[in-house]
Amino acid sequence: MEFNENLKNIKTYEAGKPIELVVREFGIESEDIVKLASNENPYGVSPKVQEAVSKRVQDMYMYPDDSMFALKNALSKHFDVPSRSIIIGSGSDQIIEFAIHAKANRDNAILINNVTFAMYEIYAKHVGTEVIRTSSREHDLDEFYTLYQKHRPAVIFLCTPNNPTGDAIDHDALMTFLEKIDENTLVVVDGAYMEYAAWKDTAKQITPKELCERFDNVLYLGTFSKAYGLGGMRVGYGIASKQIIEALYKLRPPFNVTTLSLAAAEAALEDGAFVRMSIEKNFEQMHRYEEFAAKNGIEIIPSYTNFVTLMLKKNQNSSKISDSLLKKGIIVRDLNSYNLNAIRITVGTAEQNDRLFEELGKLI
Ligand SMILES: *Cc1c(COP(=O)(O)O)cnc(C)c1O
Repeated sequence: MEFNENLKNIKTYEAGKPIELVVREFGIESEDIVKLASNENPYGVSPKVQEAVSKRVQDMYMYPDDSMFALKNALSKHFDVPSRSIIIGSGSDQIIEFAIHAKANRDNAILINNVTFAMYEIYAKHVGTEVIRTSSREHDLDEFYTLYQKHRPAVIFLCTPNNPTGDAIDHDALMTFLEKIDENTLVVVDGAYMEYAAWKDTAKQITPKELCERFDNVLYLGTFSKAYGLGGMRVGYGIASKQIIEALYKLRPPFNVTTLSLAAAEAALEDGAFVRMSIEKNFEQMHRYEEFAAKNGIEIIPSYTNFVTLMLKKNQNSSKISDSLLKKGIIVRDLNSYNLNAIRITVGTAEQNDRLFEELGKLI
């Protein structure tokens, strides 16, 4: 059978391996498996969220509220932006898809960082649009600007903090950059880890309110999958000018977020104490990774997220090391597919990190 020829160039997204796979393949008990591959919140899900979801279980025979009134209202208060500036997606992944479909086509291009979240490229390929990358590992806004002038892309993606490197763009530098971009270019600021960055260094904090008030062409993305501990519920959001939100709405399938997911996200947003606890512990534990890297002479990229990226030495092969860890029941992310001899490790709980240090220490 022949398919859309755009599909020929697409490599299927490789998600972090699930615990079930390691149970099946290696016969390891699921409670002995340490999953540090997908940047989930290792402290799990807030009890208040569990309670809110239980209360809605009997409603699941009905379609959800397609206006998503309650969650939009809660986000509107949380970020101090109007409700009409918000769109909610099945993960912020879905908003990335809408953004690309709204702007990109065979005749234009998107501009992304050399090493960044893989989904920008995959969605771009759906529509046969060209993908232009910078050359530097971390975001270099001067280089972005040069490439912007040269190629006039339809969409620019800035992932801050960046996945999979963990670095973050300075607030002031970002504002200066955005002021130079013409209003017909959509700039997507992907803040999937912004809660972590804002806690670590306010100079890195980007707020959707400021973006919305100053720029009509900027779309801010956030997610409940990381700091809020709801990776399994698939809820993300986009915040932008009315004009952008209206365009994205044309691409949205009806009922794209479930009743239980909406209830979970609303409760998660209310439980600020849980998020703060998760973030504080994250950075406490991250120090141990910095010490581990220093002790073993490995480069670690300073991280504003809930993961660390270890740049391995030439004689340490990231794929072999990830495979060996997997056989011990520890799942990490090999960055070989990003052309880096590196592994990305979600900062886990103290006990999970103990296991990781013990096993990784033997391998390097
Ligand atoms: C995890 C992640 C997302 C999206 O997560 P969803 O679960 O789809 O909300 C988006 N961007 C980056 C950079 C991420 O790491």
